[in-house]
Amino acid sequence: MERKVFQLGDVVQMKKQHPCGSNEMEIIRMGMDIRIKCVGCQHSVLIPRVKFEKNMKKVLRSTLPPDTSIESLN
Ligand SMILES: [Zn+2]
Repeated sequence: MERKVFQLGDVVQMKKQHPCGSNEMEIIRMGMDIRIKCVGCQHSVLIPRVKFEKNMKKVLRSTLPPDTSIESLN
């Protein structure tokens, strides 16, 4: 199974949509837990990374181009 790659600032699509009708979330904090903000209603939630990876469908917009590696930034 393909490993999901995501980073701070990414807008991701979730499998389940938020009650407001949007299923797009922006990653606003990374750590053991991940804080995501609903693009539709700006509501933010803190969820465990494992749960986030399970519920996240795909990255819609990334802050960096897909082929940019950390190394090339230095
Ligand atoms: Zn919402």
